[in-house]
Order: sequence, then structure tokens, then C-alpha cells
Amino acid sequence: MSEQNASQKHSFQAEVAQLLHLVTHSLYSNPEIFLRELISNASDACDKLRFEGINHPEYYEDAPDLRVRVSLDKDNKTITISDNGIGLSEQEAIDNLGTIAKSGTKDFMSKLTGDQKSDAQLIGQFGVGFYSGFIVADKITVESRRAGSPSSEGVRWVSGGTGDFEVTQIDKAGRGTDIILHLRDDALDYLESYKVKQIINKYSDHISLPIEMQKEVWQEEETAEGEEPSKGGEMVKTDEWEAINSASALWTRSKSEVTDEQYVEFYKNLSHAFDEPLAWSHNRVEGTTEYTQLLYIPSKAPHDLFTRESKAGIKLYVKRVFIMDDADNLIPNYLRFVQGVVDSADLPLNVSRELLQESRDVKTIREGNARRVLTMIDGLAKSDDEKDQDKFKTFYAEFGSVIKEGLGEDYGNRERILKLLRFATSNNDEISTSLVDYKANMKEGQKAIYYVTADSLTTAKNSPQLELFKKKGIEVLLMADRVDEWAMNFVHEFDGTPMQSIAKGAVDLGDLQDAEEKKALDEATEKFKPVVEKLSDSLKAKTKEVRLTSRLVDSPACLVTGDGELSPQLIRMLKDAGQAVPESKPILEINPSHPLVQKLEGSAQFDDLANVIFDQALIAEGGLPDNPAEYVKRINSLLLK
Ligand code: ADP
Ligand code: MG
Repeated sequence: MSEQNASQKHSFQAEVAQLLHLVTHSLYSNPEIFLRELISNASDACDKLRFEGINHPEYYEDAPDLRVRVSLDKDNKTITISDNGIGLSEQEAIDNLGTIAKSGTKDFMSKLTGDQKSDAQLIGQFGVGFYSGFIVADKITVESRRAGSPSSEGVRWVSGGTGDFEVTQIDKAGRGTDIILHLRDDALDYLESYKVKQIINKYSDHISLPIEMQKEVWQEEETAEGEEPSKGGEMVKTDEWEAINSASALWTRSKSEVTDEQYVEFYKNLSHAFDEPLAWSHNRVEGTTEYTQLLYIPSKAPHDLFTRESKAGIKLYVKRVFIMDDADNLIPNYLRFVQGVVDSADLPLNVSRELLQESRDVKTIREGNARRVLTMIDGLAKSDDEKDQDKFKTFYAEFGSVIKEGLGEDYGNRERILKLLRFATSNNDEISTSLVDYKANMKEGQKAIYYVTADSLTTAKNSPQLELFKKKGIEVLLMADRVDEWAMNFVHEFDGTPMQSIAKGAVDLGDLQDAEEKKALDEATEKFKPVVEKLSDSLKAKTKEVRLTSRLVDSPACLVTGDGELSPQLIRMLKDAGQAVPESKPILEINPSHPLVQKLEGSAQFDDLANVIFDQALIAEGGLPDNPAEYVKRINSLLLK
């Protein structure tokens, strides 16, 4: 060391001074990020050495192994982050640590309001990099030497984080940079090695360089002869260094280098789960934005999948530096069960959730992730392997109703989502028929995919609207998930074939109905005209319209919804959820060949009969009469006659 070298005082660029003031006055909410920033800089410095070392192998000097070391000194109250990367020359130290070179800084500064709280938020978004050291330190000493320069050309940079800094030439044997933080009295926690290790594991585990700390051993307190051995002792540092991160981000390796066991282990660490993932997909994506995705489909749904607290399971990294958990902008909501990592090469290191919302890169990544997940699921569904088939079944049982939300949420992938859905049908109780299967089994002349939604499969299976379809042997999809009714509002066709609810609008079986049936309905309509008119009058308060139908075989009546109106089932659901629902009345359709309906004509108890027919239709589709007591009274009165 040549202490006789003169120190030079420099002033910070005006913006830096302003930034430093902010750092020290308003960035206390998340102080531990200083370690992430400084380790990230150390890692960048090593990356730069790797790059320059390609043409200048001599830069490696006699230390080819790049690493970062973090050391704690309780006596001097310092924490030192030291790397053997590219280092700084004197001029570089003055330039890079005294000015802000980043573009947009001025712009950023002009947005500051002087209000500590909102400024703190802004600054968190922008990132303060090196200056974040001043959150915990009242003085920072940087000692550095650029790779390839003589040991006499080291530099010491010292600042208290106010108006200026001092630069001195020093002798430095090892190349690279030591950042020495002189901790404030309220930041002495960071002298505890367990705490520092914890933070490094949290933010920097996947930095691909080893981050080393001095190994500690337990040393028993010495006891004098004849005394009981004391149980006291302390952790003592040794001269040995050990890496405390895994030093290699799994997702940065190529697929061929990672075993299935390692993928599974990583999944468990990542999601804190105990289940085995059903499938995963690991890709380096190049194009308008560059990123790596490693996405897992769990085999078990989290307990809170359908509550508002449910969070997306994607961790965001930028160039291997951890940025945030639950990056919900990186995956559409209906795929919130997916776990994984996205590592972006393009996003800024200090990207915030607010910024994520607006970023085009993020939008591209989200779309890429959604496509990838749907492809994975499709792969399981299509596979001939029995194991994959089982996995698909597990997937569908756990997550089938969540992906239906995508029908409303993700217009672009609607067709792909539809292909993944499986249904029970009027022919098959098992939830296993796909829309493709259904289409393959359509009857000659059938022009639509028919479905019915209900509160339960039993209700769906026994709905009166199904009768004609059963009689004619036309398969109908049965839907009983809560989300179905809502989701189907967004689906009008599949692969060119219209989707038709059999409980909505008038029944139109097109070519499936023969001329004779049509003629019979026309005749009945004429004959029942007076009855229908009287019914409409009697049930004015309950129905929008009464009409004759040919869709019923065994039941006297059923309720249907007008095209584009909310069904009674959806109305019940929305009301249960506490939502205001516009009043809308159903249409009552009656079966002219049913004895009860035929009995209406000239009945002395027309009103009772009419109301009972209506209430029964409501019960058949899972509802309850508005006035159950009145319903019972009417039934009894009819029974007694
Ligand atoms: P950024 O990392 O986004 O460039 P920082 O404020 O974190 O911004 O760092 C400012 C600059 O200081 C870096 O660009 C780099 O030139 C220099 N620097 C910081 N830490 C180191 C280091 N450990 N080794 C070499 N240069 C460094
Ligand atoms: Mg940085």
C-alpha cells in the first residue's frame, strides 16, 4: 500500500447527489435488497471478465476461478462483497460510481415529487444499483483493480453518501473489486452470518457463480481442569471458504444436462410442494424478447385455487437474479396453478409489478407461457402412453374447471382450450368425452353440438329438455361445473359447428326432425291456442312467455331461457355470490301430449294446475318455488280432488 498517494476529492453528479439523498431518506422499506444489487454487480463484473477474457486470456492472471465472497467483520462493523471480476480503473471508478450513465435518469428524476412515500416507490421501480449500499451503510469504501493492470494501479474510492467522494491510488494484489460497507448502527443485523446466508439464498441462489462465505465451526468454551464441562461455545470462522448458493441455475443448463430427478427436486424447492409434477417444459425462447421458461404442471391443486388469495406460481428472474415471486403478469389467471421460473434477458433488474403490467416483453412472455402450458396438457391428452393418459385424467380432475375460465379470458386460445375439455354426456356418465369425440359421433343431419348446464350431473342428466334428444338418440353434453354456464357464454362454436344449449331459445333440430313431427306441432299449436293464452295470463308474474314445444316426451313442461338471456341457474349463482342481477323471467314450454297439460282445458282448478306445472318445471332444473308453502297447498288441493 502506498498511503502517501494523494487523495482527490470529487463531487457527485447533481442527479447522484439527489438520488443518494433519496436512498438514505426513503428506502428503508426493503433494506436487504442492497445485497442483491451488489452481488448482481459482482456477477456482472465476472461476466465482463469472461467476455473480455476471450481475447485477453492474460486478464485471468493466476486466478481463473471466478467467484464472489461475502465477509463479515463484527469488530469493524463492516460487510464486504468482493469479486475477482473485471474490476475498475481509477477513471472508471470516478465515472461509474460518481455519475449515473443510465439513460432516462434525468427523466426519472423529474418525476420525483419530494413526497417520501411516492418517491420511495418510484425509486424502487427504477433501481438504485450500487447506491443501495447506502441504505445500510454510512460509508462505503470501494477497492478495485482492473484485470490485466499492474498491482500498483489499484484504486480506493470512499464516500459517506453525501456530496462527494474521494479517490486514492492504492496497491492491490488481486484483481477485481471489494465493496466495503461500514454499517449504520441500525443495520448491524447484517453482521449475522445466518441472516446474510438467508438473504443470499433468497435472492441470489441461482447466480451462476459461487457466492462464498467463510466456513464456521462450533467451538466449545474451554473449561478449567476439575470443572464441569460447560455447554457454552460459539461459532468461529475458519480460513476455509464455502459456496452458499447452488452456483448454477438449473434453468440455465441445457435440457440434456438435467435429469428428471433434478427437475422434480427443483419443482419441490420452487413450489414448496410435496407432490410430483405431472409434466414440465423447459425452453430457451428467442425472438422479439429473449427468455428462458421452466414451467411445471402440479399434480395437486392448491387448497385456495378458487379464492381471491390464490397466487400465480411463477418466479421472475432477470439474468439469473431473483426479482419477484408470484409474478402474475407472466401467466394468465386461468393457468394460475402452473409453477415455474421465467428468466428474462431484456427486462430491467429493478422491474416492478406496475412496470410489468405495461411491458410489451411481459405480454409476449405471458402469451408464450400460455401456449407452452396448453401444449404440455395437449401432449398428455393426445399421448398413447397409458401413464400420460392417467396424468391427463389427474390433471383434468384437479384443474379442469379452472382452465374453463380461459374460455372467457383468453380469446386467442379458446379453440385450444376447448379441445382439452372433457364432458359427461347423455350416453356416458364418465367425464371423458371431448368435443372432437362428440363431433365424430354426431348423427347424420345433426348441425349443432348440444349441451345442457345444471347444478349437478344428476340434474343435468334428468333435465326435461333432454327427453326428445334421448328419444332420438342424439348425444347431449352434460355440464355441471359452477363455471360452465358463465364460460359457455363465450363459446358459440367449436371447429365450425355451433354450440347450442338445449335449454335456451326455441328447439330447432333442423333435419333431425321429420315433416310429420313438424306438422303435429303446428296442429297442436292451433288446438292449444286458448289454453296457452289462459296460461300466459295465469302465470304472468312468473313467466315471460308460454309456448308449446316438441322437445318434451315424458315431462309436462320445462323452463327455457330466451336467446341471450341469463338462465335461472346462472341467476341463482350470481345471487348466491351477492351480485345484483337484472330481473328476467323464463319461458315456460308445455308438452301438448302430456295428460296434465291436456287436463288444463276446461279444468275447474286451472290456476292451481298452471302454477303447479310451472313450479315443477322449476324444481326439475334444480330451483325452488318462490313460495313453497303455496306450492304444497296447491298440490294437496289437486290430490284431494
Ligand atoms: P448497473 O449495474 O445497472 O450498471 P449500478 O449502480 O449497479 O448500475 O452500478 C454502476 C456501475 O458501477 C456499473 O455499471 C459498473 O460499471 C460499476 N460497478 C459496480 N459494481 C462493480 C463491480 N463489483 N465491479 C466492477 N464494476 C462495478
Ligand atoms: Mg447493478
